[in-house]
Amino acid sequence: MNRTLLLNPGPVTLSERVRQALLRPDLCHRESEFAELTLDIKRRLSSVYSQTTAAYETVLLTGSGTCAVEAMLSTLIPGTGKALIVTNGVYGERIATIVQLQGKAIAVVASEWHDPMNLFEVETRLAQDSSITHVVAVHHETTTGRLNDVAALGQICKRHQVALLLDCVSSFGAEAIAFDDWNLEACAATANKCLHGVPGVSFVLVKRSVFKTRSSAAKSLYLDLYRYYHEQQQGYSPFTQSVHGYYALQEALKELEEAGGWIARQQNYTELSQALAQGLQQMGIQLLLEESTSSCVLRSFRLPPNYSYDDIHDALKAAGFVIYAGQAGLRNCIFRIANMGDLNLQDVTRLLACFRQLPQPSLLDAPNLTLV
Ligand SMILES: *Cc1c(COP(=O)(O)O)cnc(C)c1O
Repeated sequence: MNRTLLLNPGPVTLSERVRQALLRPDLCHRESEFAELTLDIKRRLSSVYSQTTAAYETVLLTGSGTCAVEAMLSTLIPGTGKALIVTNGVYGERIATIVQLQGKAIAVVASEWHDPMNLFEVETRLAQDSSITHVVAVHHETTTGRLNDVAALGQICKRHQVALLLDCVSSFGAEAIAFDDWNLEACAATANKCLHGVPGVSFVLVKRSVFKTRSSAAKSLYLDLYRYYHEQQQGYSPFTQSVHGYYALQEALKELEEAGGWIARQQNYTELSQALAQGLQQMGIQLLLEESTSSCVLRSFRLPPNYSYDDIHDALKAAGFVIYAGQAGLRNCIFRIANMGDLNLQDVTRLLACFRQLPQPSLLDAPNLTLV
């Protein structure tokens, strides 16, 4: 019997090597072995992208991806500042909610979920409103699988000399991130998506000069990056960390490096997603977005006529594959398949075979849904 494969966008199917790392000895987070582990992971995370080694500092946190995003927004957007938040999906909208809860001024440039970011509007707002200190966006909007055009957004930020904060939770380790060119002050990410670690560890890469020239804006004790930054210089953390999550992340990073780094992972994901899209399209199942605007990490497909998401999910789950639903209004229109985790082309071939064997829909009780 094959193991169940997770095709949801995190947590991922672990490699055996990463799973074994969870069995390493118990360790107190106040001991020197933990400090060494932390420093090693920080070093490895800072060199996933070669441009970041010198100018950016990695701050490790215990919590899911949202924890890193919230800590980044909490710490870096000043109470007297203003965030221009660019949204075209669930995760951009979540950013707006977080900053609003922090009581900071925001402006939102929203697009429909299946549309690109509205860069024309971003440019207009920045030209009109000099109180904006930060632009915040999502790199890969996992809601649809769109890889947002952050290169263009970053150029706009650079022109207006406004710092960019990025949610890279579902892109870090598998898509290009051009730190300098994008005027990136910080990006938030997690262990358990494209890096193939376990849930529980997340992190923020922050321009080192920020810690030297500004004080923390955090009104939160736990989500203040400066506290972690200072103690992690020596490898310690102000609060208990997910020790076993760290073990797994260290092993996952070694695996990434040995496999050729993020570029090799991007190639691997691209092969898998193309094979999947081709196979499903041959069965008449259509992509939501054009291939050219999609990330290599995840694809959204339109539900075939007369099938409900649950029909497809349940049949595939019985065969050992966990797919992912659309969120909110997309629940009845699409399903999503991510390629992150320990997957290979044979797994995609097996998945396609399962799709071919889906039971015929019962035409009487299935709703006929179309995408708006
Ligand atoms: C998964 C994800 C998050 C965070 O999700 P958690 O459940 O908190 O790990 C944030 N942003 C994006 C783009 C994501 O894909």
